[in-house]
Amino acid sequence: MTKGYVYLIGAGPGDVRLMTVKGQQCLEIADVVLYDRLVNPLLLETTKPGAELVYCGKLPDRHLLRQEAINDLLVKYALEGKQVVRLKGGDPSVYGRVGEEAAALEEVGVSYEIVPGITAGIGASTYAGVPVTHRDHGASFAVVTGHDKSPTGQPIIDWKGLATGIDTIAFYMGVKNLPYICEQLIEHGRDPNTPVLLVQWGTVGKQKTLTGDLATIAELVQREKFSNPAITLVGDVAKLRTKESWFERQPLFGKHILFGRTTEGRSEIAKELTKLGADVFEYPRFVTREHLDIDVTFHNYDQIIFHSPKSVDWFFAQLREKRIDIRSLQSRFYGASQKSIKAIESFACLGIPVHEMIESDKRLVIGSRNWEEREQKRYELYGEHDFYVSHTDEIIEQSNFTCQRILEENRVDTIVFPSAEAVKVVTEQIKACQETPDSLSKRAEVICFGPETANAAIELGYHVQHVLQEPSKLELVKVLKDIVKQSR
Ligand code: SAH
Repeated sequence: MTKGYVYLIGAGPGDVRLMTVKGQQCLEIADVVLYDRLVNPLLLETTKPGAELVYCGKLPDRHLLRQEAINDLLVKYALEGKQVVRLKGGDPSVYGRVGEEAAALEEVGVSYEIVPGITAGIGASTYAGVPVTHRDHGASFAVVTGHDKSPTGQPIIDWKGLATGIDTIAFYMGVKNLPYICEQLIEHGRDPNTPVLLVQWGTVGKQKTLTGDLATIAELVQREKFSNPAITLVGDVAKLRTKESWFERQPLFGKHILFGRTTEGRSEIAKELTKLGADVFEYPRFVTREHLDIDVTFHNYDQIIFHSPKSVDWFFAQLREKRIDIRSLQSRFYGASQKSIKAIESFACLGIPVHEMIESDKRLVIGSRNWEEREQKRYELYGEHDFYVSHTDEIIEQSNFTCQRILEENRVDTIVFPSAEAVKVVTEQIKACQETPDSLSKRAEVICFGPETANAAIELGYHVQHVLQEPSKLELVKVLKDIVKQSR
């Protein structure tokens, strides 16, 4: 049996794109992933199908026991020969207990690597528009805990050295003890007017900030009910904060979108929404299995209807493999969607929309197994026909873990259904998260691409707020921008 291996990885502060390339590569090959509460659940979407996901969210009162249990689990999985990833928020060596985990692995001789990450003190500050050092405002920077294992939880540190020797201080886990922290800094010689910036949920759509100074911030935090996870940045650099940071100014900042998906891969639209600053969760996740080596003939048909670009690719691959010259076929080619038509035309054949189909009794439909099952009505509409399955889109069940965590963290305020099929798939899957169309509609606004999709959603019990009349990326972006503008 191959020996197991453990990667202790920093996931970065939240934005999934802030994970290192090395960390990402390890995550993609992992058999088991043990992840923390502060890790963005969206990162789990890049694990391989079938990977085991273990949530290690800390229960405050069982802190010690949990850490030992986690160490034991790391060792156990590694000894079973697995590739294990321990995924932690920020950097694993900054209040991430990576030292304890590494020691446990050393003790039993398990090989491991530590992959650094962007720590919240830097990530959250930068996304709030504040650099932690600046030639005019701060020459030194310290990372300090706002909570430790002393009986009161109030950190035992060299307050005098900190108050007078360091320009910028980032306190972690410090919200509860903030009155004590400010008091100590002032008492030990720091100017009460020193600017302070708090950043909660830095680098993700939930990011919130609060500004004040050492004398006022504790009261403000209480009034605003500001809570963890938050970084408290103390120092002159904090005055560089503007009303909105570059991150908060992005047009779709603050939007948390669940985007219905029916096939493998990321959609172009979802990528665009992410670029505009939205948090996008494409759900569920699929892997495509092509149907190979099946016995097919194409010469008996005068119409071939393609139900997805993948079906088009499959068809042309079959022609190549069976050495059939396209010119020997007499059939017209129809596409059930714009994308399918485009795919047909990329092979220099004419693609005709299905609604322009004429009568025929020699019809072949090519689509996925899922489509055949889900779209019975459409299927029957074609009357007498043969059907070839080009591929099957299989749902990867572990994306329900991600969905569950996303919903628990209240990270869905908009649901986008690009097709009636997406409505059906999402509704079917979401049951695993104990959600219904009604409960989802209470959490989020529903946007549908076109009336057919909206009807499917309404029929299943969703409350639909927006129906895109001209279903396109452009119109979706426009609607979302309007929603954001109204809420700001
Ligand atoms: N290893 C982590 C820190 C873990 S301690 C890192 O390097 O960032 C947990 C504390 O980190 C939280 O209480 C909070 O103070 C801070 N934190 C983590 N993620 C954060 C985020 N996205 N925004 C603000 N603070 C965060």
